[in-house]
Amino acid sequence: MGEKSIAVVGAGIAGLAAGCYARMNGFAARVYEAGGKPGGLCTAWRRGDYLFDGCVHRLMGCRPPHVFNRVWRELGAFGERPVIDHEIFRTFVDETGRAVCFYANAERLREHLCALSPADRAEASALCGAIVKMTRFDFGFDARNLASSMAFGARMLTLAPVFQEYGNLTLGELGARFQDPLVGEAVAGVLGDPDIPAIALATTLSGMHAKTTGFPAGGSLALARSIEKRLLGLGGTVEYGARVTRILAEGGRARGVELEDGRREEADAVISAADGRTTIFDLLEGRYAPEKVKRYYGDLPIFRPLVQVSLGVNMDLAEEPHSVKYGLKEPIDIAGEKRSVFGYAHYSFDPSFAPAGKSVIACLFPSDFAYWESLASQGTGEYDREKDGILRTVIAELDKRLPGLASKVEESDVATPLTFHRYTGNRQGSPEGWRLSKKTIGFMMTGMETSFRGLKNFRMAGHWVKPGGGLPPAAVSGREAVAALCRRGFRTTTL
Ligand SMILES: Cc1cc2nc3c(=O)[nH]c(=O)nc-3n(C[C@H](O)[C@H](O)[C@H](O)COP(=O)(O)OP(=O)(O)OC[C@H]3O[C@@H](n4cnc5c(N)ncnc54)[C@H](O)[C@@H]3O)c2cc1C
Repeated sequence: MGEKSIAVVGAGIAGLAAGCYARMNGFAARVYEAGGKPGGLCTAWRRGDYLFDGCVHRLMGCRPPHVFNRVWRELGAFGERPVIDHEIFRTFVDETGRAVCFYANAERLREHLCALSPADRAEASALCGAIVKMTRFDFGFDARNLASSMAFGARMLTLAPVFQEYGNLTLGELGARFQDPLVGEAVAGVLGDPDIPAIALATTLSGMHAKTTGFPAGGSLALARSIEKRLLGLGGTVEYGARVTRILAEGGRARGVELEDGRREEADAVISAADGRTTIFDLLEGRYAPEKVKRYYGDLPIFRPLVQVSLGVNMDLAEEPHSVKYGLKEPIDIAGEKRSVFGYAHYSFDPSFAPAGKSVIACLFPSDFAYWESLASQGTGEYDREKDGILRTVIAELDKRLPGLASKVEESDVATPLTFHRYTGNRQGSPEGWRLSKKTIGFMMTGMETSFRGLKNFRMAGHWVKPGGGLPPAAVSGREAVAALCRRGFRTTTL
């Protein structure tokens, strides 16, 4: 009898990971991807000499002993490329030049915040203490393994007070506890959304503190291509330009996939690592997910979509802080919303992005899908005019901060929520699936339903089953989907 096979929908990080683990466990693995390259949201695109990156700013598990590092090593995610550490995660500046620096090192951050605002010593010390404690958090990875689950449970008990304190508090609420207005504003805005639970900041900085979260040199597409290479090396296949329109089922079992061109590809099991809503309501025709799961797609908050402005500039920004935010005296209008805080990041710490002496800059603005959908539906060039207007506004604003920039822009690009949606199928172009909130934080530990009664040999993977989203949960979800389909022991190999 030949190998059993798994058909995987989507070659984002979750789908590529699922394909790799399927091969490691002796399944024939065929990944079907609607787009033209690996990675899904984890992507980048060239404009002239510049590489514009659409995803990774920081990656958890870049180094051991973080539990996710094992997954990245199993997937061969970094190749020979190094991991780059930032001394400062993000810098907040006011109009006088006074700056709040979110140092990666928790002790340095504590000293800095206390020096900036002695009245906030207690709040700053508590936050930095939580950052150090959160280095013990490992997301319940390998929860199917009893010993690992018990160890996770024990660690979680020790972290319960941190979750109690910062899991139920938003960043906006945490910011309001600080007496110094700039520090408060910086804390509230550091992750770009004041409604995110403050535990997300402690988690992010804990990885940077432990040097297990960093920037994978080469960026997003290099990461995706390495995992694709690992998949092909293991004997799996990826077919691009292959949109799945239906998951085939017979006798209560998933039997394969149907493609847009009418082909029916049989398989012994199917993993869908595509957009969650598409999987449940379109590919499975709404037939298997219980009402409770379907309601998630009406009730739960998603990460707000983004407008991303990318610039290639003939300027060397290597000496500038790599990620900066600052308040604006006069708010500016971007995508129909007044913005009183402006931020940018550059990539001059990694030579893969621009030729020597030149730099790539990216600015992100949360923006509603409906706003862009309405512009595009007018069909009168409104959509393109809005993109051009945003580009001009952003360049003018950056020129005030980095004098001379306006005349040195060599390449530019504006991606909208519609762009993210068009390239990846994610609902409303959401960058990370479900937003962490009081409604979803519980799922961060448990994940969401990945299989449904009445449909054997089927699993869902990807950030829509891991609220909070991100690359490591996506990769882990692909691993878990294969583990769940393995009748006997689950095997992994590391490069
Ligand atoms: C601007 C930005 C910054 C980010 N920064 C970070 C960061 O710093 N760190 C981090 O960890 N995460 C970050 N993320 C989040 C991260 O990119 C995502 O959470 C992760 O890539 C999701 O992976 P996925 O495989 O679940 O889904 P996706 O990447 O969405 O992949 C799904 C794939 O399925 C394909 N597909 C969809 N429908 C079909 C179909 N019917 N048939 C065939 N194929 C189909 C799509 O084309 C796509 O390739 C960022 C995201 C964005 C947008």
